[in-house]
Amino acid sequence: MSLLRFNMVDAAIGHTAVEPEVPDGRPSDYFGSKVFGREAMRKYLDRKTYEALLDTMQTRAPLTRELADGVAAGMRQWALEHGADHYTHWFQPLTGGTAEKHDAFAEPDGEGGVLEEFAGKLLVQQEPDASSFPSGGIRNTLESRGYSAWDPASPAFIVDTTLCIPTVFIAYTGEALDYKTPLLRSLTAVDKAAAEVCRYFDRNVSRVFCYLGWEQEYFLVDESLWAVRPDLMLTGRTLMGHESAKNQQLEDHYFGAIPARVIAFMKDLEYECLKLGIPVKTRHNEVAPNQFELAPVYEEANLANDHNQLLMSVMDRIARRHRFRVLLHEKPFKGINGSGKHCNWSLGTDTGANLLAPGRTAAENLRFITFLVNVVSAVWKHNGLLKAAIMSAGNAHRLGANEAPPAIVSVFLGSQISAVLDRLEAGDEEGEISFDAKSLFRMNGISHIPTLMIDNTDRNRTSPFAFTGNRFEFRAVGSSDNCAEALIALNAAVAAELTEFRKAVDAKIAAGREKERAVYEVLKTMIRASRPIRFDGNGYSEEWKAEAARRGLDCETSTPRVFDRLLDPATIRIFEETGVLSKVELEARAEVKRETYTKKIQIEGRVLGDLTMNHIVPIASKYEAILLDKVYKMKQIGGGLNTGPDIALIRRIQDHAAEMQRLVIGMIEARKRANRIDDARERAIVYHDTVASCFDEIRRRIDKLEEIVDDQMWPLPKYRELLFLR
Ligand code: ADP
Ligand code: MG
Repeated sequence: MSLLRFNMVDAAIGHTAVEPEVPDGRPSDYFGSKVFGREAMRKYLDRKTYEALLDTMQTRAPLTRELADGVAAGMRQWALEHGADHYTHWFQPLTGGTAEKHDAFAEPDGEGGVLEEFAGKLLVQQEPDASSFPSGGIRNTLESRGYSAWDPASPAFIVDTTLCIPTVFIAYTGEALDYKTPLLRSLTAVDKAAAEVCRYFDRNVSRVFCYLGWEQEYFLVDESLWAVRPDLMLTGRTLMGHESAKNQQLEDHYFGAIPARVIAFMKDLEYECLKLGIPVKTRHNEVAPNQFELAPVYEEANLANDHNQLLMSVMDRIARRHRFRVLLHEKPFKGINGSGKHCNWSLGTDTGANLLAPGRTAAENLRFITFLVNVVSAVWKHNGLLKAAIMSAGNAHRLGANEAPPAIVSVFLGSQISAVLDRLEAGDEEGEISFDAKSLFRMNGISHIPTLMIDNTDRNRTSPFAFTGNRFEFRAVGSSDNCAEALIALNAAVAAELTEFRKAVDAKIAAGREKERAVYEVLKTMIRASRPIRFDGNGYSEEWKAEAARRGLDCETSTPRVFDRLLDPATIRIFEETGVLSKVELEARAEVKRETYTKKIQIEGRVLGDLTMNHIVPIASKYEAILLDKVYKMKQIGGGLNTGPDIALIRRIQDHAAEMQRLVIGMIEARKRANRIDDARERAIVYHDTVASCFDEIRRRIDKLEEIVDDQMWPLPKYRELLFLR
């Protein structure tokens, strides 16, 4: 081991568990203590203000100035009493992550002192300097400034000593510059479209809510080792590293005993989350060494997504206290699993029904099947868009790269639901389906779906979009993603589908069909048409790739080309119809995704080039010089000494080193050529085809050298050192 490596590994071994904070009582005592939620509102707002605010939250109406002042006064009081000295609008720009700019409450009072100020206008709207956030050209073309505005549906909270106010971030001309704005619009679209369909079955439904339960996967590495891996520091993943002899083959990590240092970290993390009102529930080891997962109880999607964004930053902070670094990259290590963020998604009514759960009566089951089929059909029509929504430079390592999940979006329903849909599609003839005297819908033998459905053991881990009994689980979402991206596309597609469905059913009813029969007939057509998206087999297999192409599913794997789906006419149509994103906004988002992709590959290319030339080549040369010296001396002595093996080793080193340098020079040239391209789409494609395409072979050569160069010289911590936390 090199001295540097030895020191860092030694330091890492020396890092013992940091004592977790002692919680202040039980979870029920401190849950939400840092949130300006209902309880705090009731306490700090006068009755009139409190009721008006609740009303505004319900109806999503804009806040009046008077109400804003009242809320701000109460919020300020609460925040000061809870140790806050600054406030910030907290928003989710297209960079990924969250943005905040802190302002102190303290203002000079003009008499030599200060006063803690916080007026309603500061709560409601601010103008952060927007020019440094990606906008995909919106601001340049429209020459508008951006502003952030409070989203009262998501409560304010305190991190450290700063009051954070969740906001949307919008251009002055109204275009969204963030993820929250279109997420909120998509929730409204689904609400409207789904509630109307619900009323075929239940006149009492007036609102439909969308729920999200995310499962966050992540890696932890020791901070000392991380600090001497420039690739991890700068790109979030290892660009090189020979696989450890022992990885996940023994399947001994998944659900295994959690290492002491990690448990201490998790306890602190969970404590912090609970205080912030994030209802964390599950923690466990994941499949790969050093990989873990955290999942909360699902919540209304807007809040759940804010909580996930918050979690990602809290995690980072707490990890440092425990001398870890959190890796949220989708593929930090080659040869072992990458990380995703399963998004469990469902729809529920204000009458308490889960629209994706089988019911107790035949009527409830018709409603269940209606929503299920509409989702399946939406995913069928927009499978390329859904993939584009979650595709990124990082997630490309999972999607389509021989790992869960495949780059083809398909839907898993399980054998029981599939059988139900098959029977509905086969239809009427055999008396399977009947509409009895009271016009009740019956499916012989399958009107009692619930008893069958309790058992969802045939869950398929290879499916990117799986039905899991009472919800869909979108598994292809990347670990570092903002879940909103996936939800915006899914909600828009589902809302558009439900609207189309309702039109078709209404047309049949107008033509004299009975309601249940009309619903059934439209569903039957949809089941038949969307059949190609349904796949319960092994999503990783080669046969599936060929089969999916035959079925007309989107099989594109090149990241920048996948982004093209964001601008398909069908995409633009549904986004405009549902009011979720305008064409200009979609173009801006596609542009941001392309530019982000290009920049990430550019950074990875630079780091890989630098490491090759500054770390790997010099070490290879040094080792080669030692061998050459040895061979030279052996030849001097003569005496029949065998120099053959050493010369063979020298040849191998030379071969790898020379080839590596040639490839790096070629990659740099390719980068220069790509940088000269003005068009963002074209540039991203050239980056993909000519720059990113060099990485694997350069890496292969480096990893070969790692295998043969003296371990005492190797400068970078090896996989076996990075990956096995105790
Ligand atoms: P698994 O790893 O087996 O998928 P987990 O328990 O880790 O299961 O995660 C399941 C997630 O799904 C949790 O966040 C849970 O709250 C969420 N969930 C459960 N029911 C629903 C639902 N109806 N809608 C949305 N999310 C749900
Ligand atoms: Mg899951």
